[in-house]
Amino acid sequence: MTWQRKLSFFLFVLAVILVTVGRHSAANDHWHLDDTPAEMSDAEEVELGKQVDEYIRHQFYLENDPDLNMVVNNITQRLVTVSDRNTLPFTCTILQSLSINAFSAPGGHIYLTYGLLKFAKTEDEVAGIVGHEVAHASLRHASKLYHDVMEILYRQSSGGAYSPESLLLLNSHLEEFEQDADTTGALYAFKAGFNPRGLLNFLERHLSLMIRKNMFGLAGLSATAEMITSRINHLREYLSTLDKGKK
Ligand SMILES: [Zn+2]
Repeated sequence: MTWQRKLSFFLFVLAVILVTVGRHSAANDHWHLDDTPAEMSDAEEVELGKQVDEYIRHQFYLENDPDLNMVVNNITQRLVTVSDRNTLPFTCTILQSLSINAFSAPGGHIYLTYGLLKFAKTEDEVAGIVGHEVAHASLRHASKLYHDVMEILYRQSSGGAYSPESLLLLNSHLEEFEQDADTTGALYAFKAGFNPRGLLNFLERHLSLMIRKNMFGLAGLSATAEMITSRINHLREYLSTLDKGKK
């Protein structure tokens, strides 16, 4: 199913939710909720984020280079200052991995791989990526996704079937979240004084690298490449309106 191939942020949040639910299931023998599930409160989000962050820190070696961390943290703080949720305790952690990846956990935890920082050509590109992750948090995507997944599980637990519609809805939310995080992140980058085209440049170069290296595999090619291409087109359109607004 294509929705399973979305960016790691969402898969990651899903995994965490499912693990959490799994734990409940083991304890209670069945999953149940008293009320229709709501979105997470700030405090719940921060608490979940703490657990996820602990988990990540066990899974990866952290890149401790003080200069690199300083650069990344300066970029992050500039973006957070202009964001819509700057009361969250944002952190940006560099993971010792050569893969090119960025993701976030609830509560303002952002992770970049060393491979991503090596692949980025400019500070503006890094700011584009971090801006995208800050936007996920600002737009409360983790909380909304949590709500979606809980609703699916809730329906299932009250005798309902795993409906294809709810999965389709989840899929469309995932796409929408990615595009919204792209445009909002680019706006934050612009407001913080970076070139807002940084994320677009990064995504375009990354897509052509993946195509060159044949990284999509046969089955996943169309879905993943299509998703990134539609993000690129959506972002390009947004940037042209941002350009017009400047004049
Ligand atoms: Zn994302």
